Amino acid sequence: MSFSIFQRPTLVSKLKSEKFDLLIIGGGITGAGIALDGASRGLKVALVEKNDFAFGTSSRSTKLIHGGLRYLKQLEFGLVKEVGSERAVVHSLAPHLVVPEKMLLPLSEKKGMGYWLTSIGLKMYDWLAGVKAEDQRRMLTKVQTLKHEPLLLKDDVKGGAIYAEYRTDDARLTIEIIKTAVRHGATVLSYAKVKDFIYDNGVISCVKVDDQLTRESFAIQATVVVNAAGPWVDELREVNKSKSGKSLHLTKGVHVVVGWDRFPVKQAIYFNVDDGRMIFAIPRGRSTYIGTTDTTYNGDKDNVFTSKEDAEYVITAVNANFPSVNLKLEDLESSWAGLRPLIHEEGKSASELSRKDEIFESETGLISIAGGKLTGYRKMAERVVDLVNEKHFEDRKLMPCMSHKIKLTLSDFVDFVAVKRYTVLVAKRLIKLGLPEIKAKYLVENFGRQTEEILTSLESNFDSNSPELSLLKAELDFCLQNEMICSLQDFFVRRTGLMYFNIRIVKDHKESIAQEMRSKLGWSDEKLIKELDEINSLMVSITKFR
Ligand code: FAD
Repeated sequence: MSFSIFQRPTLVSKLKSEKFDLLIIGGGITGAGIALDGASRGLKVALVEKNDFAFGTSSRSTKLIHGGLRYLKQLEFGLVKEVGSERAVVHSLAPHLVVPEKMLLPLSEKKGMGYWLTSIGLKMYDWLAGVKAEDQRRMLTKVQTLKHEPLLLKDDVKGGAIYAEYRTDDARLTIEIIKTAVRHGATVLSYAKVKDFIYDNGVISCVKVDDQLTRESFAIQATVVVNAAGPWVDELREVNKSKSGKSLHLTKGVHVVVGWDRFPVKQAIYFNVDDGRMIFAIPRGRSTYIGTTDTTYNGDKDNVFTSKEDAEYVITAVNANFPSVNLKLEDLESSWAGLRPLIHEEGKSASELSRKDEIFESETGLISIAGGKLTGYRKMAERVVDLVNEKHFEDRKLMPCMSHKIKLTLSDFVDFVAVKRYTVLVAKRLIKLGLPEIKAKYLVENFGRQTEEILTSLESNFDSNSPELSLLKAELDFCLQNEMICSLQDFFVRRTGLMYFNIRIVKDHKESIAQEMRSKLGWSDEKLIKELDEINSLMVSITKFR
């Protein structure tokens, strides 16, 4: 199956001419999950996204598939149980992309929870999530904790714990779910913005869409419309004149990235901040990323960036807990900032708001879903499709939800050991070409078995004068053919993650990759200049903290 920009005209004409059972607005993880669930249960599904897939919050999270330890503190047992159990399911669907990550939780003399409360809390966390015996939490003495992480402030550590989580790449998880939905028959279009609804007897019968690439407007007919627009959910409820009762409360969270050698954490760590919050430091390839913050946000939802104040908050937290690191603003190589689409609760602060998802139904038939977490996408999707089924397709006898069995990326890895074995083989092929071994992990964690296609293209077009660019071009070819990239940013930010985790590569090769895209996609001079201007301005926004 090819899912590429070359197919756009066919997709648009299909969307214009056919009637769909279910139309989803928003190509973040929530919309992607609903599309896969609906299509795999026999519904005729369409999905439109106004920008690139995962442009919103789903490329700007902490990138953990986690149970949310802190929700235990807020006594949200149901949420912890659901998302906690989901971790192993999502890992089994894509073992290369949702990888086990042991988390170190140091206990401080002055801040956070005590030893026994933590021990009981983590035990409960494991129990609620049904964690396998070998992965269950292990309490550590002070000496053991400092051995796990020698950079910690020695006088403050009184012990610690190790517990199991999973790390992912949120944007890649989203695109793989989208591709799997397409394989199950969903019709999916990016750069297609919903502007309005058309009603028949007071009920939505069509949505009006503006194609952001061709500037054409058209209508799509559907029996049911689901609004999975994340932070933009309320905007669409306003267009639908159904924004009453509960509304969204957006909170901003930022992450900053430094070279791993600048903050060489031995493993992922979840540590206390002076204000009572906790933040993560997570090693990934050649980098360590740190976050997050949680502050109420009322600004421009399409342009969310890390401010100087946000960056300084994270730096101060690192330096207080890891004094020898002595991070400075100049050390930050990159950053991202995202918005949590949470449900407003009167009198609660940003970090006290529940992360539970909620479904709103309007009298005109619009079903909106907001809140929730990356980790719980599958269950959220199941609930939405169950509701759609119950309301509209009872007579069709749809299949029950099967998404717990549908492998993403046609992954045939039985487990993480198989992933590691494959990574070794990939490394051997890369080393032969003079590429660094670390690239094998990068390729396999991003693309899984699809790495084969990239390697085949690399080996046949290899230029020994520029091995790094050769690999990048091979990745670009794969993404152009299979992952619906339409712009430089789609490629560098959301398909490869290089904009965040290896910005030097973007700086060095953006012109060459732009030229390559120009020749493959027939870009004009103006388009080429516009693409380069946009990537340059994004680079400034994520590296200059104002
Ligand atoms: P989005 O990803 O924002 O998707 C909505 C999409 O709708 C957007 O792409 C947008 O462009 C599109 N859209 C909007 N309006 C229109 C329109 N008119 N027409 C067409 N398309 C439209 N969860 C975890 O499980 N683990 C974590 O580690 C984690 N960390 C987080 C850290 C931070 C800082 C934040 C902010 C969130 C974190 N979360 C985490 C939560 C998780 O990221 C979100 O719950 C999830 O990504 C929301 O996905 P979504 O699809 O609902 O929204």
